[in-house]
Amino acid sequence: MNSNAVIAIHGGAGTILRTSMSASAEADYHAALNAVLSAGQRVLAEGGSALDAVSEAVRLLEDCALFNAGHGAVYTAAGTHELDAAIMDGRTLDAGAICCVKRVRNPVLAARLVLERSDHVLFAGEGAEAFAAAQGLEFVDNSYFDTDARYRQWQVAREQQRPMLDHDAATLASAASNVNEPTPHEPIDPNRKFGTVGAVALDRHGHLAAATSTGGVTNKQVGRVGDTPLIGAGCYADDATCAVSTTGSGEMFMRMVAAYDVAAQMAYRQVSLEEAAHDVVMNRLPKIDGRGGLVAVDVHGNVTLPFNTEGMYRGFARLGEAPVTAIYR
Ligand code: ASP
Repeated sequence: MNSNAVIAIHGGAGTILRTSMSASAEADYHAALNAVLSAGQRVLAEGGSALDAVSEAVRLLEDCALFNAGHGAVYTAAGTHELDAAIMDGRTLDAGAICCVKRVRNPVLAARLVLERSDHVLFAGEGAEAFAAAQGLEFVDNSYFDTDARYRQWQVAREQQRPMLDHDAATLASAASNVNEPTPHEPIDPNRKFGTVGAVALDRHGHLAAATSTGGVTNKQVGRVGDTPLIGAGCYADDATCAVSTTGSGEMFMRMVAAYDVAAQMAYRQVSLEEAAHDVVMNRLPKIDGRGGLVAVDVHGNVTLPFNTEGMYRGFARLGEAPVTAIYR
């Protein structure tokens, strides 16, 4: 039995400033992270698999309105919610993911069923929902994901985007060549935080797993899919190297194949988990304005939680030890 079993989680990264957070909001985040870590720790303590621990942790994070996944997901430009999730088993390299679902209460559970009960890795939209329904998963109305806080964020994002929406394609193209104008690739609201959730774990049997779930980014175009459900970008696990779950500006994490790059650097450059993760988050992503962070664990139980933003909701828990949670740098 591996005595280094550990679970690490994140609840998103971004402009999370001490000065803009009330003491009670801060306490709520710590309490939520602690509760999720304790649940994951219990699964591992009972000899459960890393896959079970990350599924349970992400399911709980999805059900918590504080985070942008499941209930509490951000709004699309159409005022709806579209959810993405992925999960990967480091023991077998089996993976499952779903994207653009609107009515599956817990997207991570759908991803898990894709992993376990289908011949495929990724289902999208209606097909993903048909698969989840056939598996007997719980469905909810899209309004179940509504929260007042995300609604307000959406209103702010819409206001900031209005000038861009008024441009036609030609004007956008010329704005993109003017350094003083926002380009279409810039975040709608540079101050927004990325609230995706994720978990990585090493179990007592020495196996790794990772899971990630998100509502995406506020005011995203309908049909937009980010890094979260893409194996290798937002989620990756391989017993030979590490398990990784990311959060941040999804387009950049996709272009960097960020989660896999951590594993690849460990395999090909033979560097430590910490060094590989640091390089991806602090050196490589910033080169293309990639903002965010990740949580990662290796087979020895090393944990790293780097981010290049002001804060990231995060924590880890080792067996028999109190969970450690943090928000700011
Ligand atoms: N990476 C997510 C996405 O682009 C957003 C986030 O991490 O909050 O969909």
